[in-house]
Amino acid sequence: MEAFYTVQGEGTFTGHPAYFIRLGGCDVGCVWCDVKASWEAEKWPVESIEKIVEGALKYPGRLVVITGGEPLMYDLGPLTTLLKEKGFSINIETSGTHPFSGHFDWVCFSPKKFKEPHESIFERADELKVIVFHKSDFAFAEKHAEKVRPSCKKLLQPEWSKSKKYTNYIIEYIKNHPDWNISLQTHKFMDIP
Ligand code: SF4
Repeated sequence: MEAFYTVQGEGTFTGHPAYFIRLGGCDVGCVWCDVKASWEAEKWPVESIEKIVEGALKYPGRLVVITGGEPLMYDLGPLTTLLKEKGFSINIETSGTHPFSGHFDWVCFSPKKFKEPHESIFERADELKVIVFHKSDFAFAEKHAEKVRPSCKKLLQPEWSKSKKYTNYIIEYIKNHPDWNISLQTHKFMDIP
């Protein structure tokens, strides 16, 4: 769908410059999705893996974030192999709803209520990032936290349009459940993509 060099605004790598590769196509259907234009893969041009990697090499940063859409709709083995050959660290942001593929340095698993995750994600997740849009999302977060590895970092992030309402809830929640941290969409405060 698009690729751009920016600063990672959310999650564990907040503040790191990174080249984002956003793959078109998503079958999850989150009501609050802020990239609905990504849903129909056919709307976006097919790019060769070589051309995608060439785009990343134009910038000095060597961190790539593969996102979507839902990137695991594709076999990410070939793209991540080539990125690794060129010396990139590779992160992924995924809802985990398709079988895991590819070689990653950091896996951000952000489960969604609209589609069940595939079992393969639980042992791969380095970070569990749950978007809080409704009070019931805290229980949803805990349900998924039971299935990830003990080392997996646990983050609660207010959905942008509800952040006024839920940031305070999250602050109180993590003060009482200190194994969770808060993540904010700082790129939206910085007004960068
Ligand atoms: Fe949008 Fe991501 Fe949900 Fe897909 S998984 S609908 S891209 S927020």
